[in-house]
Amino acid sequence: MSGKAPSISAVIPLYNEEENVPPLIERLVPVLSSLTDNWEIILVNDGSTDGTQAVLEKYAQEDPRIRVIELRGNYGQTAALAAGIHHATKDLVVTLDGDLQNDPADIPQMVGKLLQGNYDVVHGWRRHRRDSFLLRNLPSRVANWLIRRVTRVPVHDLGCALRVMRREIAQELELCGQMHRFIAVLAHWRGARSTEITTHHNPRRFGKSKYGLERTIGVFLDLLTVKFILDYFSSPMRFFGRLGLGCTLIGLLAGAAALSMKILQGVDMTGNPLLLLSVFSFMIGVQFMSLGLLAELCVRVYYTSKGGVTFPIRKCINLTEVQHRKDTAVWQTQSPSEETSEPQTLPAIPAPHLPLNSMENPSYQFRHQCREGDEDRTLAAA
Ligand code: UDP
Ligand code: MG
Repeated sequence: MSGKAPSISAVIPLYNEEENVPPLIERLVPVLSSLTDNWEIILVNDGSTDGTQAVLEKYAQEDPRIRVIELRGNYGQTAALAAGIHHATKDLVVTLDGDLQNDPADIPQMVGKLLQGNYDVVHGWRRHRRDSFLLRNLPSRVANWLIRRVTRVPVHDLGCALRVMRREIAQELELCGQMHRFIAVLAHWRGARSTEITTHHNPRRFGKSKYGLERTIGVFLDLLTVKFILDYFSSPMRFFGRLGLGCTLIGLLAGAAALSMKILQGVDMTGNPLLLLSVFSFMIGVQFMSLGLLAELCVRVYYTSKGGVTFPIRKCINLTEVQHRKDTAVWQTQSPSEETSEPQTLPAIPAPHLPLNSMENPSYQFRHQCREGDEDRTLAAA
């Protein structure tokens, strides 16, 4: 593929946004059309109880490129995003909120950045966030700071829904729970080359936010999950085993202390709290070890269910397309028409011809670039 602009799927989760849909589509369509003729908008109605579905259906009837997915209930933003991304068919996936707090006008710059820098993901950064300081900005800054520290993924605004991803990366993300807030971390974990760009942020005009302060607590709990996935996903016994060994050691020491106190000082063992500590520590140690073994079994079931190569491949040299596809099939969902086509390359919008297909992407590096001062920090992938 040469000289052709990349096709784009815009994925938008919606929950009770009936008044926001018309202005959103009217702003988004010209922006996408200015980038490519080959675009689609996937609107995912996450069980709205207002008139959102009727509005969506009206737009879908007028233009077949506007596609609608209606979930049977309100399953949350992550589920809605996952459903939309799963059905995306274009080269690039753009995600954004349906309440117009993200500005579609930022999309061309983000797509240009992705192509120019040969990135896999470009995240938005709401530097001047137009939300309440105490309820939104402050908790979000604290959470972002903590997540950056814990995960070592240097993206400033993990909560910004506006991002552009290559479809192959977007469809590899395992989105469940409330993981849409950790897309930057999950993409980094999958070896995606990421960068960020300052984007506009508007106050909400219609409807109200679906989240309160309690979301911050949820984010902290999710951070524990993400940290565990990052560090111990493929070898959980290393985590549980350490805890198990630690507890067993405490049990041994406490037992030995209780015994020696009995022998040397005649202290009654049954009345000695050290004996209790020893028994409990042993039991907890055994529990942790068993948990570790079970988790190891789960990991094996997970990997065998995926089949083929279980880690993401960026590039294969001197391998046939068939071999490559076999190896990477588990990570890529491709439409039947693409199965038979040649490996694709994308042209840059403002810049020279740049590769899209993972076979041609050059390195395993995570490139993180901030727009301000255009300083370019290149970090080795975790
Ligand atoms: N959303 C959704 N399902 C939910 C909650 C939210 O699809 O259960 C959508 C919502 O319609 C919006 C986006 O997710 O398009 C972000 O939600 P919101 O604007 O309430 O989040 P905030 O901007 O306050 O963080
Ligand atoms: Mg919002």
